[in-house]
Amino acid sequence: MTFRTRFAPSPTGPLHLGHAYSAILAHDMARAAGGAFLLRIDDIDQTRARPEWEALILEDIAWLGLSWDAAPRRQSDHLPAYRAALDRLSAMGLTYPCRCSRRDIREAASAPQEGATHGPDGIVYPGTCRGRPMAEAGPGDAIRLDMARALDTLADLPTLTETGPAHAGAIPLTRDHLIHGIGDAVLARPAMGASYHLSVVVDDAAQAITHVIRGEDLFEAAQLQAVLASLLGHPLPTYHHHRLIRDDHGKRLAKRDDARAIRLYRAEGATPQDIRRMVGL
Ligand code: GLU
Repeated sequence: MTFRTRFAPSPTGPLHLGHAYSAILAHDMARAAGGAFLLRIDDIDQTRARPEWEALILEDIAWLGLSWDAAPRRQSDHLPAYRAALDRLSAMGLTYPCRCSRRDIREAASAPQEGATHGPDGIVYPGTCRGRPMAEAGPGDAIRLDMARALDTLADLPTLTETGPAHAGAIPLTRDHLIHGIGDAVLARPAMGASYHLSVVVDDAAQAITHVIRGEDLFEAAQLQAVLASLLGHPLPTYHHHRLIRDDHGKRLAKRDDARAIRLYRAEGATPQDIRRMVGL
């Protein structure tokens, strides 16, 4: 079987140790399998993406000694493909426009005794706008997936194949969790066009990715992405959600963790081998 994986950084900050671990692991797994390692620049959120970060990220990846097998795919070059995917889901009757603010969602979701359930994008949407016709969609509306309807159109619910340490095995998705734990996810936002989840599914199919190797924090997101891929008729990749690199206090590294930016280690004279050692590879 061919093995094609990718590293998909968002150019919204420097590459840090957590990204380096993800990139090296995906690269090494691809090389060990005789497969391909691809890059994708996840710059769909144009309000946060910066070309300077993209340039530095590519420089850091090359400095780490990782080689990639095709020109990087940049999401901002493929907006019509995401639009087409959204239109397909809408034509299937699976989307609706949503005008709720974050605050509306918080208030509607928080029954005093229960509190809100959190999914891959924060609070699971309480369904306030569900059923609004797409013809009513205004420029300020988000577009959401009607999860229950979407699942009704699938002959079988997807099963994830996972090889990561925390969940290795076959993971059949359940209707109950998809509806109540993930819910009516946003597929497009007014300022952004396609959401991360929709664009990642379109991109993984376009790049013929067979193995998605990324942090454990995206495990829940994979369930939503597998549903979207199934609705669009794309084959599901095998997933490998790896452990997260944490700071000295056990918190996972975030973009703001500039202190662990690869460029700073480089400036201090660290070698790529040092970085591998620091992340336990
Ligand atoms: N761009 C995403 C991130 O930096 C990764 C997306 C993915 O690997 O699916 O978190």
